[in-house]
Amino acid sequence: MRIKSLFLLSTLALMVLGPAASPRAQQKEAQANARRVIVFVWDGLRADDLTPENMPNYFRLARSGVVFADHHAVYPTFTMMNSASIATGTYPGSHGFYGNVVYAPEASGKNAKRMSIEFSAPAFIEDFGVVEAVRESYGGRLTLVSTMLETAQAKGLTTAAVGKFGAAFIQDYKRGGFILDEDAAMPLSFAKELQQAGYPLPKNTVNAYESGVLTLANENGDPTAPAAIQRLNDDHTSNPLDRSGALSRKGFRYLTDVFVNYILPNKKPDLTIFWSKEPDATNHAYGPGTYNSIDATKMNDEILGRVADKIRELSWEGSTDIIITQDHNHSTVSGDVSHFPLRRVVDAGVGSHDPYGYSVSGFVRTAELLALDGLKAYDGAGCRNVPTLSGILSDGTELHPVKDDEHGVVCGRTQKYTSPRYSVPKPVPPGAIIVAANAGSDYLFIPDGDPKIAKAAVTSLQSRLQFGAIFVSDKYGPLRGTLPMSLIKADSKIPGRGPDIIVSFTFDENVAVSGRAGISYASSVNRRGDHGSFSRTDVHISLMFHGPAFKAGLYDTLPTANVDIAPTIARILGFNMPNAEGRVLEEAARSLLDGTSRLLSSARYLLAKLTSSNAALSPLASFCASSLAQKCMKKSRGSSSSMWLCKAVTSIPLPRKVFRTGLTSFAVSTKSPVIAALPEPVGWKLITIPEPAAIGTCMPPSVILSARGILNP
Ligand SMILES: [Zn+2]
Repeated sequence: MRIKSLFLLSTLALMVLGPAASPRAQQKEAQANARRVIVFVWDGLRADDLTPENMPNYFRLARSGVVFADHHAVYPTFTMMNSASIATGTYPGSHGFYGNVVYAPEASGKNAKRMSIEFSAPAFIEDFGVVEAVRESYGGRLTLVSTMLETAQAKGLTTAAVGKFGAAFIQDYKRGGFILDEDAAMPLSFAKELQQAGYPLPKNTVNAYESGVLTLANENGDPTAPAAIQRLNDDHTSNPLDRSGALSRKGFRYLTDVFVNYILPNKKPDLTIFWSKEPDATNHAYGPGTYNSIDATKMNDEILGRVADKIRELSWEGSTDIIITQDHNHSTVSGDVSHFPLRRVVDAGVGSHDPYGYSVSGFVRTAELLALDGLKAYDGAGCRNVPTLSGILSDGTELHPVKDDEHGVVCGRTQKYTSPRYSVPKPVPPGAIIVAANAGSDYLFIPDGDPKIAKAAVTSLQSRLQFGAIFVSDKYGPLRGTLPMSLIKADSKIPGRGPDIIVSFTFDENVAVSGRAGISYASSVNRRGDHGSFSRTDVHISLMFHGPAFKAGLYDTLPTANVDIAPTIARILGFNMPNAEGRVLEEAARSLLDGTSRLLSSARYLLAKLTSSNAALSPLASFCASSLAQKCMKKSRGSSSSMWLCKAVTSIPLPRKVFRTGLTSFAVSTKSPVIAALPEPVGWKLITIPEPAAIGTCMPPSVILSARGILNP
């Protein structure tokens, strides 16, 4: 009956519209029917700042969209690492790119400001010039897996990458589509179009092309210049009490203007990645939870509101899917508060102890600590002056007092410093360790691959409380108290690309600063906020889908990760990413599946939901849930599809602290009889590593339960 009337209606519509419709009307209709996807990455947004008060536009969409409760960044939780994983749907071990600070000594070239880059030292890669130099040193294959935007372009789709330099650019690092980041507009024709339309260009656009082919207009200015950071009277540490607002407001107002008023209506991109620099930039400066951090968080919602208004104006609501996620969460940089208690900020200076005050510690220079243990370690940086965050102890003593290099003997020039320079010698001596300092985790490269050096580095790291979990390249075999890098899918398949050791700094999820839980040591310089560690804070992020491709009002409790985004988008837009390691998030989709798959997906979702709600009650309940899962498995074992269901059932959240970097899950506990007593379910692997006493004070988890390959048969 209903089908009949639908048929009648469409026949009627055809009679009315069909022969009479003008080509323009047909074109308009085709455009309205086209599928569009816009992905917003809100860099470094705290999951607990995602509130209706801060983000009204987000919640307007979320209420009729899909909210993912258990979404994860890829570890290491750096921007460029997650940018590559979002771009390719793969883990670092497969895409082979190791940002943010990359050690690529074979590379040469100039940065976006057209300054030569010293690649004998690890280089910060949030810059199209640096990305392109490294790309060329990798034979054009910055990532070993094609990006989503490149794949979409090959299918004839129009793409746009807009926003933060580096992170937006890497999405389309071969410059195949429209790119507008803080540094440049690409391609040249697009940059010229923008000029003709009266827009200024990001200042470094001229450096993206051969000299002389593009000239900035006299009144161009610097539309993406950030605001200055307001500092304490030590001139280096930011003032967390400052209320001047988000650092990148001006730049992102400009980028949003161009996106909403020019790119959307004129270029009509099928697929857009809009990578916001905030609240990351402001969090780094002032720390999570501060006035400026919240202002930067709200800025994203304002941009979302402007884009949503434009989509409505263009009548694209019925064809546009919006995906919102982060590259990582954000922690407060602080050392152990029992050694370095929080202090109040008074008159732009550091005051007395205050449990509700601010951090006066957390900065770690890994090369310096390794060197203290007799290793030849270099991070390629000059003298560092980190007067407050190097650590002020309980009694007011500075852990690394400021020294004055009056004659430039230590630093090579006159300056104050708390830590000397660790330039990389040329040539690199045997037994050297090159540290790519990356904030919440550091990469250690051992150029001569000497296993004795790897072991010595591990022993040194394990002896200090600043360092937590240590991941060592599988080529060194098992090392006591460390985990194989392949476990987190970060072991490089190509020699020279990936680090030999990844070390996460120590974090504490039970300390809050400015009302935000989660502190971590970090190797970043004079930053109050950072990320990159293996902490739950840094790894756990948000994900929301809204639009015609997705269900409305679903709260999805299945674990998901940033590698799942590209394959899901590929399914929506009808192209293939066969090398993606993430899964299509089918349970969230309205119309991507055939009948059988939809049924399976729903069943799988229900089962996972049942077990996860049990698991949430207690470790014991979780134990029962896993038994339930096994029963179910025996019952339905047989065809490939029922086996698939069973694997889904084993995806229950594991007891105690659960981390998941994509498809690899870890239940981590230093003393956990419950975990130790768990039987080994199918598809799960139990790994036992030595007890803390055996290897020093800082000890990664003693028992690790890893569920591998679940949800991805
Ligand atoms: Zn980031």
